[in-house]
Amino acid sequence: MKNLIRKRIMVTGGVGFLGSHLCERLLIDGHDVLCVDNYFTGSKDNIEHLLDNPHFELMRHDVTLPLYVEVDEIFNLACPASPIHYQHDPVQTTKTCVHGAINMLGLAKRVNAKIFQASTSEVYGDPQVHPQPEAYWGHVNPIGLRSCYDEGKRCAETLFFDYFRQHNLKIKIARIFNTYGSRMHPNDGRVVSNFIIQALNNQPITIYGDGSQTRSFCHVDDLIEGFIKLMNSPDEVTGPVNLGNPNEFTIKMLAEKTIELTGSRSTLKYQPLPPDDPLQRQPDISLAKEKLDWEPRIELEHGLKDTIAYFRQLIKK
Ligand code: NAD
Ligand code: UDP
Repeated sequence: MKNLIRKRIMVTGGVGFLGSHLCERLLIDGHDVLCVDNYFTGSKDNIEHLLDNPHFELMRHDVTLPLYVEVDEIFNLACPASPIHYQHDPVQTTKTCVHGAINMLGLAKRVNAKIFQASTSEVYGDPQVHPQPEAYWGHVNPIGLRSCYDEGKRCAETLFFDYFRQHNLKIKIARIFNTYGSRMHPNDGRVVSNFIIQALNNQPITIYGDGSQTRSFCHVDDLIEGFIKLMNSPDEVTGPVNLGNPNEFTIKMLAEKTIELTGSRSTLKYQPLPPDDPLQRQPDISLAKEKLDWEPRIELEHGLKDTIAYFRQLIKK
């Protein structure tokens, strides 16, 4: 065990892609973990290997409802993250972001817990500043298909800062950029999982638009290290802090790399670009480097190989 002090840490959205990796890491670090989820997009399969651990507890709960538990720290990750999932029931997405934040902040205030918010690069919208530093206020459509998520997450950040100013709460806000790795949901339509599954099945790779739009992909192991460093940083480091990999790729480059690494016979198939799809996205991570001494270490090629191995196994099951 690394820690002498065992903390009681709650992870909302704990059976999801990022949440399950975070629960695993917190247990390795010697903490008691309370994993809270309503199973909307997460799966018990993601935390099955943790169920026998006496320091791990699983609770079915929707964060739009109040929760009364005794914890020292809260990681608030509960929210569908992929466009397909968050647009499925947009009203519920806004409720999860906003009511969820209010409920978790209220809990943090009551038990005097430190609280972390999984915010997103989507708060920058379709950015007009490139790369995006935290000081950029963003370019967000308030009434579009992505708004339930983008504006919901922006409002959650507002609530975190108002609790910080009004109630002296200890807050940490991470603005997460596109992250990939094992336990991504196979059907949530995100680009890395879509391309890998299509390539493994030798099906056409669906490129939306002309494939010139860019994203910067961070491996989940790097991201979780950033979460831990931010949570454990001095109280004055509230964020928002960008966490992501600054290496930027076009979607077409990602498709070609995926075909190469899987040895696939897939061809490229161009489809219309969804509305409000940001044309470019790349984090400026100077603040994370300076305040957290954090930067990603895993190259895309290495991380993709690891993710491809995961999906190969999943498809076999
Ligand atoms: P995910 O969909 O795999 O996980 C989200 C989890 O939250 C799921 O287990 C889901 O069942 C749960 N959930 C949803 N609504 C809930 C509710 N009302 N009450 C309780 N649980 C609820 O997504 P993820 O990729 O693991 O994302 C986790 C967090 O990180 C989200 O808040 C997301 O906005 C943020 N984020 C992720 C990325 C990324 O690239 N993965 C990028 C930016 C931000
Ligand atoms: N995308 C694509 N083909 C797919 C899935 C996604 O070309 O099968 C594109 C999508 O239009 C976007 C980028 O890949 O430009 C990243 O999409 P994702 O949904 O993974 O994340 P986000 O748009 O939220 O960054």
